[in-house]
Amino acid sequence: MEDSQALVLAHMSWPEVAAARDQVELVLLPVGAIEQHGPNIALCMDSAAADAFCKRASARLNPRLLVAPAMPWGISHHHLNFPGSISLSEDTFARVLVDVVRSLSGHGFQRFLMVNGHGGNIPAMNVAASMIRESLNPAFIGASTYFEFGDVPLTDHAGEGETSVALELIPDMVKHDALAPGEETELATGFRTSMQRYGVSAPFRFDEYTRNGAFGDARDATAERGAEMVTSALNNFCSFVDELVAATPIVE
Ligand SMILES: [Zn+2]
Repeated sequence: MEDSQALVLAHMSWPEVAAARDQVELVLLPVGAIEQHGPNIALCMDSAAADAFCKRASARLNPRLLVAPAMPWGISHHHLNFPGSISLSEDTFARVLVDVVRSLSGHGFQRFLMVNGHGGNIPAMNVAASMIRESLNPAFIGASTYFEFGDVPLTDHAGEGETSVALELIPDMVKHDALAPGEETELATGFRTSMQRYGVSAPFRFDEYTRNGAFGDARDATAERGAEMVTSALNNFCSFVDELVAATPIVE
């Protein structure tokens, strides 16, 4: 299994961390959410998929990438009308990330990249990156979202795209016997498309857009499509890491 080559912080002893420190060029901070994904995928999707993606990248570039524990909680206020979803407030979310980077900076790590799995986290994650830059000033701090590295954009929620990715990264979390199309409301197919067209952001709740919590049609998801999306994202991510390291030399 490719992932067994991943450098996973939580699975290491402290002497192992100390020994790896000089080889690690970048710490990956998986950032996710516990939020509903319709009837199609388990609540952990965004955390578990970001974590799995980071481990694959770490295995591929061993020993250059250290994977920090995945942050399970994200910004999911808009999903709280569906049972099981959990949300942090934006300031808690950002402060947890600052504290994690502060701790790891103290151990000598100098470059950090948040690798997010949930679109709703992006504004607060960008704030966290800015707070870290200003308060800790590491050699690099960045905020990214793993599916943005793919050649094909992922735009649905628990639909054919995201469920395909789940089939590739965390197949046990897909509810194979319950796959259903999104039950999108008139607001979703009408006004929402105009907001998207003009870049207007409005914090509607997800149940105002879709009655079962999904966008798109998970019945069309395939493992092959998921493998293609993840492979292109991993290839681009690993090239990006090379560029990142070259662009941010560490001054001793
Ligand atoms: Zn998701």
